[in-house]
Amino acid sequence: MPARRPVIALHGGCGVMSRAVLSEDEWADARADIRNALEAGYMILSNGGSAVAAVEACVVVLEDSPHFNAGHGAALNAAAEHELDASIMDGATAIAGAVAAARAVRNPVRLARLLMTRNIPMMLAGPAADDYATEQGLETMPQSYFTTPRRVQALEAMRAHKRLGTFASESEKHGTVGAVALDCNGNLAAATSTGGFTNKAVGRVGDSAIIGAGTYAKNGVCAVSCTGQGEYFIRHVVGHEIAARVQYEGRSVADAVRSVLAEAFNPYGIGGGIIAVDPAGSVTAEFNTEGMFRGWINAAGDVFVATHKDDD
Ligand code: ASP
Repeated sequence: MPARRPVIALHGGCGVMSRAVLSEDEWADARADIRNALEAGYMILSNGGSAVAAVEACVVVLEDSPHFNAGHGAALNAAAEHELDASIMDGATAIAGAVAAARAVRNPVRLARLLMTRNIPMMLAGPAADDYATEQGLETMPQSYFTTPRRVQALEAMRAHKRLGTFASESEKHGTVGAVALDCNGNLAAATSTGGFTNKAVGRVGDSAIIGAGTYAKNGVCAVSCTGQGEYFIRHVVGHEIAARVQYEGRSVADAVRSVLAEAFNPYGIGGGIIAVDPAGSVTAEFNTEGMFRGWINAAGDVFVATHKDDD
C-alpha cells in the first residue's frame, strides 16, 4: 500500500471562556501550545512514526501546558486535590492503556501508553497507577506541580456556585485534552487526558479513562477523543457508538459524530465536544458549546488552530 499523507488533530476542551477572561497574551500562549502539540505529533508522523506515538507526544505537550485541564493545570477536586485520568488506543491492534485517579505521574498519557505494552492489566487506578509509574521510571511530581492560580480560582468559584445555588457556565466546567491521528501506514490512534472537572467528587473517574467512551480507535473506521461531562460519554459509550454508526450503518464519521452529540447531549443541555479522524484523513471537530480549543494538520500539511465557535 502506498504511504499516505499523515493527519493529526487535537482538542483542548470544550466550553471556552469569553474572550475578555484571558489577556491577549494568554490566548496567544494557549494557541501557541496547541500548535506546538500538533507539531510534536506531526513530526513523528512525517518521519514514518506510528499514530500511537504521535497522539502520545501531542498530548504530553498539552499536559505540560498550564492552559489546559490535564497534567500541569489540571482541575482541582472537592478536596482541592488533583486526580488524573488518561487513556490511549491503537486502532491497528485494539490494544489500549488507561489510568484513573492518578495523583503523581507527571504525564498520565505516558503511563497509559506504557500499560499498552503490558496488556494485562490495561488499566491501573489510584496509588497503583502512581506506583507503577515510579517503578517504570516515569517522572512523578508533588500535587503542587499540577496546581495553577486559575484552577484555585475555579474551585473557589465552583464552591460559591454551590453555596449560592447558582449554575456554573459550560466554560467554567470543561477542560480535557485529546488527540487523534492517521499515520503513513493508514493506522489510526486516539488519546485523551484530563483532570476531570472542578470540584468533582474524590475518587470520581470520567470518560477520559474509559476506552470506548472518551477514547476509541479502530483502523478503517475512525479515531475519536471526547471532552465534556464524562458521565454522559460513558452512559452513551460515545467513542464506540460513533465507530459503530460508521462501521455498521455506513455513515460518514462527520455525520456519526454530529448525530451522537445531538442525541447524547443536547436533550440534557449538557456541553460536549468531539474530535475524530477518518481513514482517509478527514477531520471532524464538533461541539455544542461556545467553543473548543482545537487544531489539526491536514493531509496537505496545512495547520489550523482555533478556540471559539466563530473561528471557523
Ligand atoms: N470529560 C472529562 C471528564 O468528565 C471532563 C471534560 O472534558 O471537561 O472527566
